[in-house]
Amino acid sequence: MADSIAFIDLQAQRAQLGTTIDTAIARVLAHGRYILGPEVGELEAALSSRTDNCHVVSCANGTDALQLSLRAFGAAPGDAIFVPAFTFAATAEVVCLVGATPVFVDIDPATYNISADSLKAAIAATRQDGTLRPAGIIPVDLFGQPADYDAVEAIARDNGLWVLEDAAQSFGAALGTRKCGTFGDAATTSFFPAKPLGAYGDGGAIFTADAELAGKLRSLRVHGHGQDKYDNVEIGTNSRLDTLQAAILLEKLKLFDAELDSRDRIAARYTELLSDIVETPLIMQGASSVWAQYTIRTRQRDELRQALNSAGIPTAIYYPRPLSRQSAYTAFPVAPGGVPASDAAAAEVLSLPMHPYLDETQQDRVIDAIRAHILSLRQTGS
Ligand SMILES: *Cc1c(COP(=O)(O)O)cnc(C)c1O
Repeated sequence: MADSIAFIDLQAQRAQLGTTIDTAIARVLAHGRYILGPEVGELEAALSSRTDNCHVVSCANGTDALQLSLRAFGAAPGDAIFVPAFTFAATAEVVCLVGATPVFVDIDPATYNISADSLKAAIAATRQDGTLRPAGIIPVDLFGQPADYDAVEAIARDNGLWVLEDAAQSFGAALGTRKCGTFGDAATTSFFPAKPLGAYGDGGAIFTADAELAGKLRSLRVHGHGQDKYDNVEIGTNSRLDTLQAAILLEKLKLFDAELDSRDRIAARYTELLSDIVETPLIMQGASSVWAQYTIRTRQRDELRQALNSAGIPTAIYYPRPLSRQSAYTAFPVAPGGVPASDAAAAEVLSLPMHPYLDETQQDRVIDAIRAHILSLRQTGS
């Protein structure tokens, strides 16, 4: 059997980067400013220039980026915060960590992003119930594609809610002329190694056009400092991006645009050669995706996954269960009518190997194995 294909091949990227990372690390070791060293500011400036000059506040990880934002917004007990049910746990977890209540909203079955209709119904039901005060929305740009911000921002305006864009999977994508990281009142991303822009460890960032909010976030990430570290004006925390990770990310950013082109080419080829036999991803009119995941959908998901695994092709299921059905979250409110589209997606989605260095031979192996399996099922009439 041929070698296994990597789901995400960070070693191939490492080869592409050559000695640049080693040199960048050596530079940090030489100056020794490991906490908030010069590379952190340089990275924030580089990210700002990619997000319409937003204020950028880097931090320890994408989960902290969300939590710090919620704290800067003043989210508190009694607040209802609307989150999609079909996402990574961090999106809802942070709501609970600040003492607010997540209200789970269903997704649009075509894009997997938050459904405007379910969101409207959830807000109305929360108001009617009266126990919680609707406060904000955290749309997630799932698999690398922006949520429908035209719809979400209109709903937020009508209801006086803030919007926090969870762009952990979408940094680099856009909706028309607007870039991911610039939607809502603030946006967050993650530099977890497997994300499209990944570090060699944890990292995250917050983006906002609001200078005052950015100042508050800078304070919160260093123990709520005022004039200096020993003047505490907020109850903050310790959540800084390591200088070493910033130095690594600065090097990776130099490849990022070429990597996004490559991801787009691979996704287009997958779609061209698979769309007649499985459901391939739908990207909204005018939107782009950074393909954090290339996710297909089929009723024969589990059998297909097993067949691919036997052929040395790794796959992943993002996500096997909506958050509203996870034991930690079953007590929280769900939109009227529940989350049927999230349930259906959880049963049928399958993410394929996707990274910028997946060559055509490897792509063909994935494509051929999927086609062979689905066509054999059709022949046996199952
Ligand atoms: C990865 C991810 C996060 C959390 O990022 P970490 O850096 O791992 O803390 C949050 N939301 C979504 C949608 C993610 O995919």
